[in-house]
Amino acid sequence: MWCGIEDVVGVALTQLKDALHNRVVNIAIDPDLPSVPLDEVLMEQVLMNVISNAIKYSPEGSEIRIEAEKDGDMLSLTIADEGAGILPADRERVFEKFYRGDRTKHIPGTGLGLAICRSIVEAHGGSIRASARKDGHQGTVIELSLSLSQ
Ligand code: ATP
Ligand code: MG
Repeated sequence: MWCGIEDVVGVALTQLKDALHNRVVNIAIDPDLPSVPLDEVLMEQVLMNVISNAIKYSPEGSEIRIEAEKDGDMLSLTIADEGAGILPADRERVFEKFYRGDRTKHIPGTGLGLAICRSIVEAHGGSIRASARKDGHQGTVIELSLSLSQ
């Protein structure tokens, strides 16, 4: 189905509203973005996993910023938090099944969320990766790239 990414983000945030606990969510999604061919339920699952990580691994009161823009024939979607961050050596490994970063072992989890996200995003012909914040502050940025055509 062709969906507006803003709607998919909205559904994921609605589902997570009780978990937010004072994290401030700021959304900057270009209103003129074209629709994206995707399975809405699966992509909501991806966003819920990524946003729930942003919540779980960041302090109350911090900001979660969600941005989307057109980048050639792709849609770029980023979810940035101000939390613990992921060590450079772990940025690929966190997409492996059951892998959990050392810094966050005290917070319960299975280590499957991002592995599932990657298989869903790749099934759509897209990509997902973890990076550092461009502003130099501590935190994580999850970058998704989705094709705007089938
Ligand atoms: P679950 O399967 O319940 O989601 P999980 O959160 O541990 O468990 P993933 O979502 O796959 O599993 O994340 C893997 C690891 O990547 C986490 O254990 C954590 O160490 C690290 N990680 C993921 N997202 C973030 C983030 N936003 N900030 C800091 N670390 C993160
Ligand atoms: Mg997770």
